[in-house]
Amino acid sequence: MNRVRVRFAPSPTGFLHIGGLRTALYNYLYAKKNGGDFILRIEDTDRTRYVEGAIENLIHALDWSGVHVDEGVVLDENGNITEKGDCGPYIQSSRLDIYKKYVDELIEKGYAYYCFCSVERLEALREEQRIKGKVPKYDGLCRSVSIEEAKKRIAAGEEYVVRLKLPHDRNIRFHDLVRGDVVINSDEIDDQVLMKSDGFPTYHMAVVVDDHLMGITHIVRGEEWLSSTPKHVYLYEALGWDVPEFVHLPTVLNKDHKKLSKRQGDVSVEDFRGRGYLPEGLINYLALVGWSPDGEEEILSMDELIEQFSFEKVVKSGGVFDVDKLNWVNAHYMKSYDLDKIVELSIPFVVEKGLMTEEEIRANYDWYKKLVEIVRDGASKLDEIPDLISFMFGELKIEEESALEQIKLEHVPQLLDAFLEELEKVEEVDEEFAGSIMKTIQKKTGIKGKNLFMPVRVAISSTVHGPDLKSIIYLLGKEKLVERLNTAKKYTK
Ligand code: GLU
Repeated sequence: MNRVRVRFAPSPTGFLHIGGLRTALYNYLYAKKNGGDFILRIEDTDRTRYVEGAIENLIHALDWSGVHVDEGVVLDENGNITEKGDCGPYIQSSRLDIYKKYVDELIEKGYAYYCFCSVERLEALREEQRIKGKVPKYDGLCRSVSIEEAKKRIAAGEEYVVRLKLPHDRNIRFHDLVRGDVVINSDEIDDQVLMKSDGFPTYHMAVVVDDHLMGITHIVRGEEWLSSTPKHVYLYEALGWDVPEFVHLPTVLNKDHKKLSKRQGDVSVEDFRGRGYLPEGLINYLALVGWSPDGEEEILSMDELIEQFSFEKVVKSGGVFDVDKLNWVNAHYMKSYDLDKIVELSIPFVVEKGLMTEEEIRANYDWYKKLVEIVRDGASKLDEIPDLISFMFGELKIEEESALEQIKLEHVPQLLDAFLEELEKVEEVDEEFAGSIMKTIQKKTGIKGKNLFMPVRVAISSTVHGPDLKSIIYLLGKEKLVERLNTAKKYTK
């Protein structure tokens, strides 16, 4: 078998859509599983859709996700677009001469023809077909224009496009690794424009030429391209090229089973990053949208995904994007990630919430690290960390019903006084003090269990929930504890 070569071929129309990342991921997993190459090609032949900076964004998003490109368009050390590999250029707008050569070949061989129909004529034709209830389709008027006549009209300056000349009533067949055999009759397909009047190829022409010249063995893309595939298969045949394998992936759907679109909220990889998802969590979850692993285990690292990935386990029907499940998967990585990394990644979120400045964090790094350490298990993503640590900042403010209930219990003043007395005896709150203080208060007051721990927790952190009490005591330190315990007194009966 030939070396596996797959490609991700986005159009640079903005940011990387989460569905696009899933397509890139499945390509990547298949390439890595089979010791093949994962190529990034940029399909920018539709210049009207070009967005400045989109290529750089795409590459950053792929890199962040851990989906690394072996060949094609990459960024150099200064962040500028460059290329790597022997089959370039990998940006379609730099390949116009190549497409022209093959378009000319198709015309010479009778597989394509020049079309001079004006936009007005095509519109009128479409309107007429619409009224008659027919599917809009070019009527083939220019099929009868001979090459000689066409060349004369072109020399005289007439505008033209080049169209594919499909045979009548022919079944075009191909095999899809997810969908099985697909057969479509050529009469159901339009004479596709292959080259536009501006000399740019259409997607259909460029994709076939590039996939062939770049040695692509498996075309793995979204199912929205399934209906275009017969045209491509016919082009491969017309050009005398081997037809590669096709894999059309189910669309990523929202909970209402509609295509996940920008209108319903965040869909770009950047959005998910900004909301505090870890790349490993997002990738792990995305892999499961439309594919199922061999066993029960759904928490899988990139290496495990590579190990298990196959197209046989890709489902035919759309995969539903479920944010709750994404959060569940991501929470797993929040717990198991390297602590130093979580600490670093959490900083921008905490700074943005205004809890601490970056300078304050750096100056109190060990303190901050311990704080993140005690709350990380309760966070499903990074942007929850500020909320989870916010109780440490500002003044004590008891507002929750359940917390007020605790602080108003009759025995609480006794507890607070005992705590304050012990604090007076020490210079500072060290780990030893933090570790033994609750026992000391228990001995002094005779109060234990829930009656001891709950009110103290509320008195120093405003709430009944939260991380380990002795860590909170240690991290608050003497001054803050004294201040909070005194404030807490005002809430008691
Ligand atoms: N340029 C197409 C897109 O943006 C790629 C389709 C394909 O992979 O053939 O989706």
